[in-house]
Amino acid sequence: MTITTRMLANWANYPVAEAEIATPENTAETRDYVLSRERLIARGNGKCYGDAALAPHVLSTLQFNRLLHFDRETGIVECEAGVLLSDLLNVILPAGWFFHVTPGIKYITVGGAIASDVHGKNHPAKGCFSNWLISFELMTANGQVLTCSRTENNALFWQTCGGMGWTGIILSARFQLMKIESGQMRQTAVQAADFDSLFRAFDDNRRWSYAAGWLDGTASGRSAGRGVVFLAEHSPSSSTQEMLSLPAKKPRNVPFFAPSWILNPLSIRLHNEIIFSRAKTGERFVDLDTYFYPLDRVQNWNRLYGRRGFIQYQFCLPEENSFDGIRRVMETIRNSSETPFLTVLKRHGERPPEAVHSFPLRGYSLALDFPRTRTIFNLVHQLDELVWNLGGKIYLTKDACSAARMGRVDPTAFGEEKFYSLLKARLLNSQDTALKGLPV
Ligand SMILES: Cc1cc2nc3c(=O)[nH]c(=O)nc-3n(C[C@H](O)[C@H](O)[C@H](O)COP(=O)(O)OP(=O)(O)OC[C@H]3O[C@@H](n4cnc5c(N)ncnc54)[C@H](O)[C@@H]3O)c2cc1C
Repeated sequence: MTITTRMLANWANYPVAEAEIATPENTAETRDYVLSRERLIARGNGKCYGDAALAPHVLSTLQFNRLLHFDRETGIVECEAGVLLSDLLNVILPAGWFFHVTPGIKYITVGGAIASDVHGKNHPAKGCFSNWLISFELMTANGQVLTCSRTENNALFWQTCGGMGWTGIILSARFQLMKIESGQMRQTAVQAADFDSLFRAFDDNRRWSYAAGWLDGTASGRSAGRGVVFLAEHSPSSSTQEMLSLPAKKPRNVPFFAPSWILNPLSIRLHNEIIFSRAKTGERFVDLDTYFYPLDRVQNWNRLYGRRGFIQYQFCLPEENSFDGIRRVMETIRNSSETPFLTVLKRHGERPPEAVHSFPLRGYSLALDFPRTRTIFNLVHQLDELVWNLGGKIYLTKDACSAARMGRVDPTAFGEEKFYSLLKARLLNSQDTALKGLPV
């Protein structure tokens, strides 16, 4: 097991904290580390945005990267928790299988997918990752390994799905895949001139399996709320087996942190003009990688925000408040000095009643990326008030600075004190001075 100490951050590069990072090679070493440390958290690939996978002691699962079993007939896969979705794709796609639920990034671990209970662009039909999860092995604070499923240790099963690592270390998991016939997606886009038509575009196109919208955060007046809804379906059978694999593409890279002025209101406005005018409204076919993982084409794109990093604010509102609420959120942003760069709007359906920690509510969610300016926390505070009063919540895996109540979860209800992150400390309103690098 290697143990090092260094400054560590998640995807948004804020906050940065000093952490001891252990990389155990097997269950025995994992147990040794769990039993010998307090205040530790499991870490997958660090692709959560804020302060979830940060703690004084971090247990990296990236060495748990073995595929344990893959049944090509039933599409049930069993793997260690540190396996990346991208690695799984190389095995499952050629056999004609894909994930029922995938987030917009393939470089996350299976453990991270469970602990955040990730969702994709098909939530109304397919729910979250936990909907397809059969069981997992969890190491708890006393070093015991428990099998958790809907029938065995089921309370722990549901606490762990979306539980942000606060129940223990997920070691391995079994889940169900979805059969597909080709690696191609049939895609179209609907341009919307304002809020009304944007929400109508989601409503009128409920028959499409996948839908996600982009919203122009710089538009105002009569074009406030203009955007594009991207719709897609898996395309039926293809003749060549090659189509069922990830095309070999060389990703572009942002090799160093950009100066923080690069993303300014003017450049963002320009970028938005380009997205809006270039949205292709006719039907076309794109490969699966292009459709599901467009951001993966540029490695380290988070560096575009400069060393100060950025804040992603992702919130979800109940359906009855979504239209008016999102309009008010965008109005509040326009009246501030902040400008969001990326925006993603999604529709969500019901969640199983047991999935208490899953982020989506039946309604709409909006994710907004803001450069971390000196004044961004004032805006987050205002948005928190608005979202809270509308019955909404924020996505903890993206959070770095929202009010403690905003995830609508009580971290003390998890029982385990050992499993502890900066996120948990913040929600507990901890004044823990040992957490060096806490946001100021
Ligand atoms: C570009 C981009 C796009 C994204 N799109 C989406 C999206 O569409 N939908 C969505 O839902 N999310 C999305 N995310 C968020 C991402 O999917 C989640 O944050 C995911 O949990 C990251 O997985 P990870 O392996 O990097 O975990 P980490 O970031 O390392 O950890 C995330 C959380 O999981 C816990 N955890 C990780 N491994 C384990 C384990 N083995 N046992 C117990 N706890 C563990 C950590 O403690 C932490 O609380 C996106 C992120 C990025 C960067």
